[in-house]
Amino acid sequence: MTEVLTVEDLTARVDEELIVHRVNFLVSKEETLYIVGPNGAGKSTLLKAVVGYPGIIVEGRVIFMGEDVTGSPIDERARKGLILSHQFIPRIDGVTVGELIEMVARVSGSGVSTEEVAELLEIRHLLGREFGKGLSGGEMKRVEVAVTLAAGPKLALIDEPDSGVDVESALVIAEGIREMIRRSPVGSVVVVTHTGFISKYVPPTRVCIMMSGVLGPCSGPELLDKVLAEGFRIEVA
Ligand code: ADP
Ligand code: MG
Repeated sequence: MTEVLTVEDLTARVDEELIVHRVNFLVSKEETLYIVGPNGAGKSTLLKAVVGYPGIIVEGRVIFMGEDVTGSPIDERARKGLILSHQFIPRIDGVTVGELIEMVARVSGSGVSTEEVAELLEIRHLLGREFGKGLSGGEMKRVEVAVTLAAGPKLALIDEPDSGVDVESALVIAEGIREMIRRSPVGSVVVVTHTGFISKYVPPTRVCIMMSGVLGPCSGPELLDKVLAEGFRIEVA
C-alpha cells in the first residue's frame, strides 16, 4: 500500500459557514505535498478537519494508513501518527515548553528526548519558558515543530512553518521538518504555506493550489515555481 492519507470529498465548516468544499487529495509514501494558497483560502480549516477537530467536518472521508478515521477523535488520530503542527500555537498557562515536549513524547510513546529536539530546533534556552507566552514568531514556530517531532508523527501536517520567521529560524525549522521525514516510517509530510519560502529548504514532490475553499490544480514541483512567479491565479494547462 502506498497511500498514507486519502481525503475524499471533504466539506468543512467554521461555525455555520462552509469553508472547505469537496476537497480530494492523496498523500503517498515518500511524498512531500505542498498546499499553497492565499490567506483565507481554508488551508488551516482543511488541516484541522483532517486531524479531527470536532464539529468541522460536514461531509467526506479521511482514510489514514488504510483505516477510515473520519469519526475518530483528534487524540486517537494523533496516537495513530497523524499530527497537526499549528499555524498559531495556543497559550497553555502554567506549562513550560520543556514540560510540554516531555508530556507529548511520553503520551505518544515516541521515545523522543527533550534534549534531542531542543538541540535540533535550537530552543534549549526556551525550555523553561511558559508555552505560547511572549515567544517571538520564529521561537514559536521552532517550539511548535519541536512539539510535533516529540509526538513521533507518521504524517505531520505542518501549517505555515515559514510565516513570520527570519531566515535563520527558517533554516532550523526546515531541518526539523527534514528530520520528521527521516523518522517517519512512510517518509511523507504535508506542508501548507502562503509564501512558499520554506520550499527552498524542504523541496516539494507535489504541489496543490487551494483557493476559496477548493483544492486544485495539483502538479509537480514546477507548479510552485509558477505560483511564485505569477501568483495563485495562474492558468494551468
Ligand atoms: P487559511 O489558513 O487558508 O488562511 P483559514 O482556514 O484560516 O484559511 O480560514 C478560512 C476562512 O474561514 C477565512 O475566511 C476565515 O476568516 C474563516 N475563519 C477561520 N476561522 C474562523 C473562526 N474561528 N470563526 C469565523 N471564521 C473563521
Ligand atoms: Mg492558515
